[in-house]
Amino acid sequence: MFCYQCGKSESKLIEGLCLQCFIKEFSILAIPNEVSVKVCTYCNATFSKGKWINANLDEEEIIYRNIENSIEINPIAKNSIIDMHILQMRGTIAESIVEVRGDVLKEEIFEEHEINVRLKKDICPTCSKRNSGYYEAVIQIRSQARKIDSKQLKEIDMVISKTLEKLYKKDKLAYIPTKSEIKEGVDYYIGSLKSGRKLALAIKESFGGMITESERLVTKNKSTGKEIYRVWIAIRLPNFNKGDFIKFNNKTAKILNINGKKIVALDLDNNNTFNISWNMLGNAEILKKNNEVKKTIVISRSPKILQILDPNTFEVVDFPINQNIQDYSSEDEIKTVFINNKLYIL
Ligand SMILES: [Zn+2]
Ligand SMILES: [Zn+2]
Repeated sequence: MFCYQCGKSESKLIEGLCLQCFIKEFSILAIPNEVSVKVCTYCNATFSKGKWINANLDEEEIIYRNIENSIEINPIAKNSIIDMHILQMRGTIAESIVEVRGDVLKEEIFEEHEINVRLKKDICPTCSKRNSGYYEAVIQIRSQARKIDSKQLKEIDMVISKTLEKLYKKDKLAYIPTKSEIKEGVDYYIGSLKSGRKLALAIKESFGGMITESERLVTKNKSTGKEIYRVWIAIRLPNFNKGDFIKFNNKTAKILNINGKKIVALDLDNNNTFNISWNMLGNAEILKKNNEVKKTIVISRSPKILQILDPNTFEVVDFPINQNIQDYSSEDEIKTVFINNKLYIL
């Protein structure tokens, strides 16, 4: 058998060639001279197969990934190792080199290929929405009290930005184009409704409150006839905290705990605990703050009566002994609260 290139006689030919001629013609890599990729100027997302993907990669990573995706390795080559380098950036073109070594029919082969990666700057739809101030929802934070104090406003801000950071990893519309503080509270405009709802829940988880939603038709897009809705998510925060005293359905109660799901309260008249769901918040009315609790002392104790000094009037008051106060004895310090002309021992 003769090699058709060099005419050498060989017992075994590969595709009609001797080993030397075959390797001379062979290339491990099939690689184009240039590839181009659309990259968003703002978030570095790249446009691939009809979709914007992978925001926030750095430019080098984008270049390397696009080189990787454009090369093909000939399966005849074994144990190949590829090494890529960006030689220099010329404008938006990354002049790069791909080195490869591999075993081809027991011969070790080394190749070097040049490739240019052209980054075509563009703006992805998310960033273009963001730049235009697009929003799908508004979170309105209000309080049962007329005003939200500045300390709480700061705390709310912190919960919002922390939650937003997490949400942004999955939802590029989790951004706040506008925040407006008004007399009654604060409004956060938010790029996506989905993230808006999650933010509202995070606020409720931290501060309690009641969430209501209302949808508003804002514009009718004249060219497409498409209706655009925006959703207002209102959160009404309670004007009480743990340890405060409220009136709820004619019960006088102390707040034992507050969480995203409910308020846990203690009925001061019968010492029973009960839960209030947040959608009943409107029925709860603050009576006294925690800091209005007053200390006093037990004057005397008989089998049936505890006598204490009323810290408001300095008169001696008798309490029939019940389960709650049975452990007190003379000279003990106790806590009281005076609500609606009635003194309660806590
Ligand atoms: Zn040959
Ligand atoms: Zn973008």
